[in-house]
Amino acid sequence: MSRFIDLTGQRFGMLTVLCRSEKDASGVCWRCRCDCGKEIDVFAGNLRRGHTVSCGCRRVLPYIGKRFGSLTVIEKTEETVRHGGARSPLWKCRCDCGNTTLVRLDSLTSGNIRSCGCMENEGKVQKMRRAAGYVGGTQTSKLLRILEYNRTAADGDMIGVTYDRRSRKWRASLRFQGINRRFGSFDSPEEAARVRREAEQKWFVGFLESFQ
Ligand SMILES: [Zn+2]
Ligand SMILES: [Zn+2]
Repeated sequence: MSRFIDLTGQRFGMLTVLCRSEKDASGVCWRCRCDCGKEIDVFAGNLRRGHTVSCGCRRVLPYIGKRFGSLTVIEKTEETVRHGGARSPLWKCRCDCGNTTLVRLDSLTSGNIRSCGCMENEGKVQKMRRAAGYVGGTQTSKLLRILEYNRTAADGDMIGVTYDRRSRKWRASLRFQGINRRFGSFDSPEEAARVRREAEQKWFVGFLESFQ
C-alpha cells in the first residue's frame, strides 16, 4: 500500500473526507460529508481530480423552486426511469393545477413537458391551430390567400366587391372574425375596390402585422 494517501479531513469542494469507506478496503474509496449534511462514498481519484465536488446537491439545488411552464420543481427523487439505455432520475414537480408529477430534468429544460398533463390537450389543439395558421381564432393563411387573390383581381372581381342589380350599385364589404362589415354602395367598381382595399389594410394587414 505504498501509494496510499490519507485524505482524512481534507476538503474537496463541498465535501469533507471523514474516513476510509467501509465498503472499500483498498483505500481508494472515502466516506465524505457534503456541506448539505449528506454522506457519500467517493473514489480518491474522483476527489483529487475534482470530478466529485458535492453529494450531487450542487447539481440539484439550482433547480429547486425553478419554474418550467406550469411546473415548479420541488425535489429530486430517488426514483428513476429508463431513458436511452440508462436510468434517469425523476424530479418531483408541482403543477399550477395542484397535481404533483415526476419528470426527467431534461424534459423540463428542453420544454417538452410543461405541465402535469392537464395542459397537454390544450397544447395539442394550440399546435394544430398554429399549423393551420390560426392566431387568436383567425386563420391567417386564409387572410393571406384572400389578400393575394384580391391583389391581382380586377376591381369588379375582388372578394368583398359585389354588384347589386336592383340598385345598380357596387358594394364593398369585408368579413373578419365573424363580422360582416358593409362599407356602402358606389357607382363604379373602382370606388368599391378602393374602399375594400382600405378595409383590408385596416383589418387584415393590421391584424397580421400585430403578430409579427
Ligand atoms: Zn450535498
Ligand atoms: Zn396540471
